[in-house]
Amino acid sequence: MINTAFSLVWLRNDLRVYDNQALFEACQAGLPVVALFVATPDSWQQHFMAPIKQDFIRRRVLQLQTELALLNIPLVAVEGSHYDALPALMQQFIDAGAEALYGHNEYELRERLRDNKVSATFADAGKTSFWFDRKAVMPPGSILSKTGGIYQIFTPFKKTWLARLRETGVRCFPKPKALGDVTLQLPALPAMQQGDGSSAAYAVDELQVLDQMRQFCRDKAAFYQTERDFPALDGTSSLSAYLAIGVVSAQQCISRLQLEAASDWDREKSGAAVWLSELVWRDFYHHILMAFPDLIKHKAFQKDTDGIVWPNNAQLFQTWCEGKTGYPIVDAAMRQLNRTGWMHNRLRMIVASFLVKDLHIDWRWGEQYFMSKLIDGDFAANNGGWQWAASTGTDAAPYFRIFNPVTQSERFDPDGVFIKRMLPELADVPKKQIHWPHPLPLWSDYVKPIVDHSKARLRTLELFHTVKKPQ
Ligand code: FAD
Repeated sequence: MINTAFSLVWLRNDLRVYDNQALFEACQAGLPVVALFVATPDSWQQHFMAPIKQDFIRRRVLQLQTELALLNIPLVAVEGSHYDALPALMQQFIDAGAEALYGHNEYELRERLRDNKVSATFADAGKTSFWFDRKAVMPPGSILSKTGGIYQIFTPFKKTWLARLRETGVRCFPKPKALGDVTLQLPALPAMQQGDGSSAAYAVDELQVLDQMRQFCRDKAAFYQTERDFPALDGTSSLSAYLAIGVVSAQQCISRLQLEAASDWDREKSGAAVWLSELVWRDFYHHILMAFPDLIKHKAFQKDTDGIVWPNNAQLFQTWCEGKTGYPIVDAAMRQLNRTGWMHNRLRMIVASFLVKDLHIDWRWGEQYFMSKLIDGDFAANNGGWQWAASTGTDAAPYFRIFNPVTQSERFDPDGVFIKRMLPELADVPKKQIHWPHPLPLWSDYVKPIVDHSKARLRTLELFHTVKKPQ
């Protein structure tokens, strides 16, 4: 039998079978279901998407093909080029019998424009598109102040967000039931290419990832508060790469956390509550991005700070990228990023602050470099994190609070365990000197510091004073 009518599920950053509302609703609607993924390397390039993330997506899509096949849902994985080509591609699916389109909303401006065009293609053909809001736990625009305004500061946002969670809880959608056998006639399309294998250290099996998430909630979330700031420990969930492409959803994380941590998730300062806070940060930046679409054009959130003329020394930038600044914690962190595609959150804050406030380089350079390397690169979180560190963003802390990289190192890597793991040239340095091994009589393989922190700090204050009144 040849089926011509089907529902099309367009997968993007929701590469999972469980808790996939678009997939679930399409399966409920009764028609056979076809899933579609389109690789768009030209557009990925424009977003500076790291090669390791591209590889991870491609590997996950191939695995998802197998997982969906067990439900009799063919996943057509197409090698596309650019977003602009998508309406024409969708038309081919409409011509082949797509009756309706199902997907999840994306929050970046270009993606929203792209999805509007695709919806219009379906509407022009008399077909319906169904879009669901699942990327954030609370849909953007749904967490507002008493006067109906967008929260621009995290703490009051979180308070309202938590109150909503207590009221409504989170809903997760079950895995859809297997559909009957279908044969579909589809257009001949270029098959998605394989990646370069660089993300091999990351599992792509959905059940394995769900297991990792459950294990974290069961065994580690309780200690998150005390361990999360120490890069030498394995104290965080390491789920960011999976959350970024949607192998697991934040809703699934919360639902599991509530199950494992009983009421602890709502007990301030408990490990579970602090971990939940991180997921609220994730939502916060999604909400901010939807409300302030100019952010995608890399505009500063605090507009006056766009007036700062950053010196932008390209050579200093290069040493930062390579992890050769002479500040061990910064260099160890950058080597972790370059080697693995991931960096611990405490270190992201330290290196971001160092680039902007010690090297006086525009935060946008760092933001872009991170995107080009991170397996978990996510525009909203990355832009939010960079602007937070640069004091140009939503942060309530004032610009004159400047991280000292050496004291940060002493506090968060007290024995230098992480530094030594990443910088073998400092393996023999005694604990006392590991945070500042200068001058270098014995460890002369290591680089000299490229900047004097106290002088750089004063220069940062001057730069901010050009656009802000001294506080
Ligand atoms: P956990 O500590 O276990 O946290 C759980 C999840 O909460 C994370 O996986 C992530 O999805 C979310 N989360 C945690 N902290 C934040 C945060 N501050 N903002 C938003 N979401 C958060 N996170 C990204 O996912 N992608 C990025 O591109 C990114 N860029 C960053 C850039 C800078 C300069 C900074 C300071 C932070 C950035 N973060 C980014 C946030 C954070 O560093 C990572 O999410 C975290 O290190 C990932 O490790 P984990 O999964 O073990 O996190």
